[in-house]
Amino acid sequence: MICTGCSCLCDDIVVDGGVRNACRRGAGIFRFVNEGRAKPMINGEVVDFEKAMDAAGDIIGNSEKLAVYGLDTTTVEAQQKAIELAKTKEAYIDDNSSFCLGDFVELILKEELPTTTLDEVRNNAYVVFYWGTDVYHSLSRHMSRFTYYPRGGKRQRGYEEDRFLVVVDVRRSHTAKLAKKNARFIEVGDDLELIDAILKVLDGKAPEKFAKDAVRIVKEMQKADFNVIIGGLGLKYGLKGDYQQFLEFVRRVNEVTNLYFIPAGCHPNMRGFNQLLFEKTGHVNRYSFRDEEAGEKFAFPKLLEDGEIDAALIVGTDPVNSLPFDIAKKLKDIKTILIDPRQSLTAEIADVVLPSAISGLETGGTMIRIDGVKVELAPFLEKKPDDVSIISSLLEAV
Ligand code: SF4
Repeated sequence: MICTGCSCLCDDIVVDGGVRNACRRGAGIFRFVNEGRAKPMINGEVVDFEKAMDAAGDIIGNSEKLAVYGLDTTTVEAQQKAIELAKTKEAYIDDNSSFCLGDFVELILKEELPTTTLDEVRNNAYVVFYWGTDVYHSLSRHMSRFTYYPRGGKRQRGYEEDRFLVVVDVRRSHTAKLAKKNARFIEVGDDLELIDAILKVLDGKAPEKFAKDAVRIVKEMQKADFNVIIGGLGLKYGLKGDYQQFLEFVRRVNEVTNLYFIPAGCHPNMRGFNQLLFEKTGHVNRYSFRDEEAGEKFAFPKLLEDGEIDAALIVGTDPVNSLPFDIAKKLKDIKTILIDPRQSLTAEIADVVLPSAISGLETGGTMIRIDGVKVELAPFLEKKPDDVSIISSLLEAV
């Protein structure tokens, strides 16, 4: 079985009365599959599914400024339909990656940032950076399946001798606490200072800050021909929008050894959405089909804040829970349709709720792992309707 609890998309889950191999979050998804399920609703009243579908069709049909949002927990097939719907309605479309790691995915898709797969990392990587991400909590099996702990083709002695872990963060996170053997934890206040220090070492100069760490890191990276940065939100915000400095750093390191980058995104199919939209528009998120351009002003929170939309089709996400309250409350000013398997805070305020099957557990399809590897889901239950059929019906209605 494949777990769709996070972007690791673990493919070794066994469900045989119990749940084996999954982390605590993953096990919970399988064990409590029937709990907290959404019901078809209109304005908080439970109704027939067909009635809720009709109401959703009316909202989308009458909307003149529609936004389609979410989609990172559903399948590529459903994302395709949602993009088609947004295009048909000349709507805005966005996902969580616009305030998560979409910028890094875009740099990868534009081939400005060298990348690799997690399987290659397991087999080859020597220096593994976790930069601005606490994967111990967010991607619980990342270190044991792909990076630090496992034996791999060229790394038969695992972390005891064949890996070097570097954790960069603003505080000693739980991941940082694991940086003991063949490892360094570097506490940064400003990520750009560490990048600058490594660049200085590469230039043969003495950095003012992080001198010892920078010298050690460069020395360790040069011991092997395969090193990787797993970069998270801490790195994104630490760069303060200065991606050029980061790209220059990666380029310079690649003159003396090989350094790759993989985002530490959490949503199971964020990469799928980014890739699909990129193939169709050249942009990974925050896109307006009416304007045929992408930009910060088309980010879903910004559209809400600016009162630019009259309706939203939200798929598989809970913006009332995740967006700042002042922005989330603006959902009450517009018509909202939620497609989601689970009851959520957004379901409580949505005009229409359309419950769907859980992707991966109750319906199949494809997801793209965060490193670009295609994963075919293997559901162990069957439930209808799924996101693909719901969005397809809405598309037909408009
Ligand atoms: S690490 Fe992620 S994909 Fe793997 S079992 Fe845990 S939640 Fe599921």
